[in-house]
Amino acid sequence: MSNPSLLILAGDGIGPEVMDEVKRIITWFGDNRDLAFDVSEDLVGGVAYDKHGTPLTDETMAKAQAVDAVLLGAVGGPKYDALDFSVKPERGLLRLRKEMDLFANLRPAQCFDALADFSSLKKDIVAGLDIMIVRELTSGVYFGEPRGIHMENNMRVGINTQRYTEAEIERVARAAFDLARKRSKKLCSMEKANVMESGILWRDVVTEVHEADYQDIALSHMYADNGAMQLVRAPKQFDVILTDNLFGDILSDCAAMLTGSLGMLPSASLGVPMANGRPKAMYEPVHGSAPDIAGQGKANPIACILSFAMALRYSFDQGAEADRLEAAIEKVLADGARTADLMGPEDGTPLSTVQMGDVILAALDASL
Ligand code: NAD
Repeated sequence: MSNPSLLILAGDGIGPEVMDEVKRIITWFGDNRDLAFDVSEDLVGGVAYDKHGTPLTDETMAKAQAVDAVLLGAVGGPKYDALDFSVKPERGLLRLRKEMDLFANLRPAQCFDALADFSSLKKDIVAGLDIMIVRELTSGVYFGEPRGIHMENNMRVGINTQRYTEAEIERVARAAFDLARKRSKKLCSMEKANVMESGILWRDVVTEVHEADYQDIALSHMYADNGAMQLVRAPKQFDVILTDNLFGDILSDCAAMLTGSLGMLPSASLGVPMANGRPKAMYEPVHGSAPDIAGQGKANPIACILSFAMALRYSFDQGAEADRLEAAIEKVLADGARTADLMGPEDGTPLSTVQMGDVILAALDASL
């Protein structure tokens, strides 16, 4: 059997810096856990535009379709702000998501005990928090037609359309129920069925899928506005939250900030299973290319490393090795390892990106 394949698209700004640490972790698993990957690398975003005049070439797109999982760093930067919309770095990312049909976006919000003071909420409300938001990523109001700005009675009118088919709801609901089954078997679905027909359909389809195949999961429904309140009032009441593209965009950012720093937040975007049974998948940190600190060795690599841990768990069925990597990160944080984003100005000297990689690798060594 050949090794599973990974395509690394490190991108712009701090993307390559944090991805360098992920590459060391990948090598560690090959050397120590008999878990070798065939790794290839290519360009996405501004660096691809600089070389090819496009943020993602057809060749790179084809490679992404062919591998078992894509690991992406970050794209964008001020150098590219004035470019035409069609060739902006972010278009490369959107093309990957669209053509790979990555309809389920998984955003964990996990609060490491050692960082509980970093949250804007009280420590006891967030300590030990571990929730997962599953956001529908390829349909809904960001894609629905008609859309645009036109004139009506001498006035400009802006239109976007919230649209979901039952098949689009069903497939993301199944992804969320499957996930809930691997966690604490609890799922809360959020929409606005009180004021939106698409919300009524969402609730109906989720309920039908539950009744048909997932009766072992405790399902609840909540209006998304109440969900936002509950997330900051008592977030630990949730485990898996399932929601649509628009509400998921907002609720996942809200949940993310419960945990403190952007430098800690991973994500996964999953599509339909390929011939080998693995889902199409792309793993990336939530943060962007951080031009303000790029090239200075200050970036926190943990969000990108945790994204690789998600790849181990969701693409390669290596939950125990994902646990090992997450435990190594938890350990170094408990021991006081901090990059600059996890420290106040009075807190001493921060670790560099590479030094954070070093201590995580040492903790992995110690785990053997
Ligand atoms: P950003 O996430 O790049 O940075 C926001 C702030 O968080 C900055 O102060 C940055 O220094 C800090 N930060 C982010 N990641 C960090 C890390 N790993 N370690 C330490 N500090 C970190 O968001 P932005 O400044 O709004 O956007 C910068 C560029 O990134 C823009 O071009 C934007 O379009 C792009 N962007 C890309 C993605 C992506 O590739 N998925 C996501 C968001 C923004």
